Amino acid sequence: MSKRFFSVGCILAAVGILAVGLASVGLHASARAGDKPNSWGFDTTNLDKTCKPCDDFYQFAMGGWMKSNAIPPEYSSWGSFTQLADKNQQNLRQILEAAAGAKASPGSNEQKIGDFYVSCMDTAAIDAAGTKPLEPELTRIAAIKSVADLQGVTEYLHSRGVGALFRFNSTQDAKDSNRVIGAAFQGGLGLPEREYYLKEDDKSKQLREAYVKHVAKMLELLGDPANQSAAEAATILKIETALASASMKNTDLRDPDKTYHKMMLADLKTLTPNFSWEAYFGATGHPELKEINVGQPDFFKALDTQLTATPVGDWKTYLRWHLVNAAAPGLPEKFVAEDFEFRGRTLTGAKEIQPRWKRCVQAGAKEIQPRWKRCVQATDRVLGEALGQVYVQKYFPPEAKARALEMVHNLIAALRDDLQTLPWMGPATRTQATAKLQAFAVKIGYTDKWRDYSALKIDRKSYAENQWRGAEFDFGRRLNKIGKPVDRTEWGMTPPTVNAYNNSSMNEIVFPAGIMQPPFYDPNADDAVNYGGMGAVIGHEITHGFDDHGSKFDGQGNLKDWWSPEDLKNFKARAACVSDQFDAYVVDGDLHENGKLVLGESIADLGGLTIAYAAYEKSLQGKPRPPDKDGFTPEQRFFLGWAQVWGANERIEYARLMANTNPHPLPRFRGNGPLSNMAEFAQAFSCKKDEPMVREQACKIW
Ligand SMILES: [Zn+2]
Repeated sequence: MSKRFFSVGCILAAVGILAVGLASVGLHASARAGDKPNSWGFDTTNLDKTCKPCDDFYQFAMGGWMKSNAIPPEYSSWGSFTQLADKNQQNLRQILEAAAGAKASPGSNEQKIGDFYVSCMDTAAIDAAGTKPLEPELTRIAAIKSVADLQGVTEYLHSRGVGALFRFNSTQDAKDSNRVIGAAFQGGLGLPEREYYLKEDDKSKQLREAYVKHVAKMLELLGDPANQSAAEAATILKIETALASASMKNTDLRDPDKTYHKMMLADLKTLTPNFSWEAYFGATGHPELKEINVGQPDFFKALDTQLTATPVGDWKTYLRWHLVNAAAPGLPEKFVAEDFEFRGRTLTGAKEIQPRWKRCVQAGAKEIQPRWKRCVQATDRVLGEALGQVYVQKYFPPEAKARALEMVHNLIAALRDDLQTLPWMGPATRTQATAKLQAFAVKIGYTDKWRDYSALKIDRKSYAENQWRGAEFDFGRRLNKIGKPVDRTEWGMTPPTVNAYNNSSMNEIVFPAGIMQPPFYDPNADDAVNYGGMGAVIGHEITHGFDDHGSKFDGQGNLKDWWSPEDLKNFKARAACVSDQFDAYVVDGDLHENGKLVLGESIADLGGLTIAYAAYEKSLQGKPRPPDKDGFTPEQRFFLGWAQVWGANERIEYARLMANTNPHPLPRFRGNGPLSNMAEFAQAFSCKKDEPMVREQACKIW
């Protein structure tokens, strides 16, 4: 998710801090679409017939499923995405266990994925090594005497995947999409984002107290005396709070104009006189860098002040924390357990009863995921295209790719038709929008050019060493792209991923093999359900090219103003309708969805569903009308297909974390939100004007 700074919109949050909540298990899976022979792709036991479709469609369609699918103890949320990801993980486990036992030739991808997995599973060796794998880093941190030393060690930690102070990466130049440039980005926080440090409500304060305790505990595990580690943790919170205060708000981060500040070395020197970018670039192996994008100049200005205002000793404490924080999942059990205690249990866990709108009450203490799952995920992160290559051979038939392509083209055609008749758009903008749509690149299943891992050494000796080398390989790979032509064959997700994305700088839509399965797409299911599921997911990604963020990029992927002022005004007014709609949704207590934060995703859901519906209707033209099934018309089945994709239960802390940080609305609001704007939905279920699923002021963009 951090590989591309801003130009990616996807169907749900990428993994990262939320890894605990997003990856999955299988034994808990109940029957879903496609499991039953002769099914039309929707299991009617998912329904909650006590709820009327026009009152709360999501509850009507998926209430039965939600009631009978409690969240497994090791998850923060449980739904279609997690269930399918879980199934994929079990398949990956088989691949990895086979590779581990295969005596593959040294240096081959098979040897690497097998050995990486084995090293991760070898808890005896991990426990025996203790904190030894951190010693080289700890020694470097201990030797810091000056700000110059501090920045040298910061670069070293960056190269090993430790996110201290800020982030540095390569990115396409937003205004010259054929160029790859370096980019510096705000960062350096241990909590999910700035508001966690600044909000003054009781819950936020409690969470900060828990965080300080967690930081202290981790430092104690590293060997610091208890009384000392408490003071150190307070220092760390102070440093991070200063960084958080200077960080850009997540709503502003979505605006590519606000994060584009290309600077030459001289500008950088003025911006951060205490930080030598020349030294930093030299240390990364790229002394030739003369110009980078600085995503948030105000953040770097404040960081620069902090560099000298904060005693060097405090910085050393801060770096030790970020080191152990990043390395924790690969360290002995006590580190893993404490890391989970905070990130899994406190930040995303179930410590409270469900809000009123969540009718099925979840029970149970939370557990950490079994080790094999964490190891499958780790292998996917470090060697994803080596593992994915085997995965697609086994699990992604060529027919699936052909079918998905056909659907994508139908969806693009539907939006093209829509653009021609859109009442609020003038001819000049219409021409540009159509050209952008024509220029969309479509990627399905997996990359045509697999990543070359030959420079990455992996063995069975040390899991921590494998992790470090993996991070170094990736840092080097990303920075080596700077100054070279853009590689348009690259993928930002691995093949088994249950997700999809739109990258505005590439003007492309990408659908990994992992998502093209039931309940998103089922070759044996009714077309209506497939269009409501995978069709709307495809439509969602297409529409991202025209949401509040994507609409700022042209067909070549350049950040460029191609809208007439009048059309832009119209677009913004229509977008404001969607933003207001989501602002009104109550997540928990006084916490609402943040309309501005979820605007892009909400526009994409509404637009995606609208064009998927149009494409489905078009596919029926000239054919006999499909019969009703289990009493549902084809149009009704389309909307059931949509709700089915969003069926999910979440723990309340997880829901709060999502609402605070995630540009995707909660599944419940995605399930109902767009439908309540669509006359097609009201018509399909004969909903009347004053019923809850019919909004008085319907939002309509595409
Ligand atoms: Zn999206």
